[in-house]
Amino acid sequence: MKGLALPPRVALAQRPTPLQYLPRATERWGCGKRLWIKRDDLTGCLLSGNKVRKLEFIIAHALAEGYDTLITCGGLQSNHCRATAFAAAQAGLSAHLVLRGDTPLTGQGNYLLGQLAGATINCYPKSHYVAELPALLEAWRVHYAERGKKALVIPTGGSDGLGIWGYIAACEELREDLARADIESAHLVTATGSGGTQAGLTLGTALHALPLTVWGVNVCDDEAYFLNKVATDVADWRSRFPGQPAATVTPRVIDGYVGAGYGVASPEVLRVIADLAALEGVLLDPVYTGKAFHGLVKELPTGRFDDQRDIIFLHSGGVFGVFPQADQFGFLHTAASG
Ligand SMILES: *Cc1c(COP(=O)(O)O)cnc(C)c1O
Repeated sequence: MKGLALPPRVALAQRPTPLQYLPRATERWGCGKRLWIKRDDLTGCLLSGNKVRKLEFIIAHALAEGYDTLITCGGLQSNHCRATAFAAAQAGLSAHLVLRGDTPLTGQGNYLLGQLAGATINCYPKSHYVAELPALLEAWRVHYAERGKKALVIPTGGSDGLGIWGYIAACEELREDLARADIESAHLVTATGSGGTQAGLTLGTALHALPLTVWGVNVCDDEAYFLNKVATDVADWRSRFPGQPAATVTPRVIDGYVGAGYGVASPEVLRVIADLAALEGVLLDPVYTGKAFHGLVKELPTGRFDDQRDIIFLHSGGVFGVFPQADQFGFLHTAASG
């Protein structure tokens, strides 16, 4: 790719992550296709998953512009908020998390980790959060400004024209993965929640002319929402980084696997998480990757991917989301005693 000029980036992620073949999953679910997994759950431990790739560019921007505080938002168990809290601590910045949900009596999972990383946390009941989020973020920004501090507001999931650089840049890595694994062309499937990963991959594959067809399996909202969100993030990228090469972006969404709602996994999703863990030693999460992988498994027999021999699933992380839902995995005890 000529002319793509990456903005400043701080090294936070362990890169490159492995592209791993899944022989037993291929046999079980592949329907004649080869299944691969891009291990972005291995970008780090606390700084893990897809969010850390975005944060490399967001933190670099914050440091360059003299911000001392990062304000961001998400669900109580947000992976993005946890990763932001740890990235801030590593960079010597303060983090302030604005979370959706009632303040828990005891912290667990990502919420607990955010506390341990020293983030200031405010929880808002869901209706208040949904109705008021932009005003809440702005009020906190002003709060810091009045105290002589400079706070950067990072949008949900770090998904905007800056954050999507994470997966535009990851496409360079994917090009090498394809060459090394001798994959001519493939479908690339990711969970999509705030759209930035999908936007970065969709734009990045176009800019790098990679032989990949990118699909987002939405874990909330619907197809129309994500078609629009990807277009919005790409437009924001264009306006913030003028002079980048042209590319035609065609977002693709696999809708129909949200189930009962964001963060709520059906028994089938929980089952596929346990099955993949036992088959391949790869652990998915109930909020994002488990739902998306379940969608992939369901779509494979429908012929949606029949023009390619290879499927790459992006493991975008989320391991800490397993433990707050431990009681959902009760079926495992039944199996063990039987
Ligand atoms: C945030 C997240 C996603 C979704 O990525 P977006 O860029 O927000 O769409 C997928 N998987 C995991 C584990 C996440 O934390």
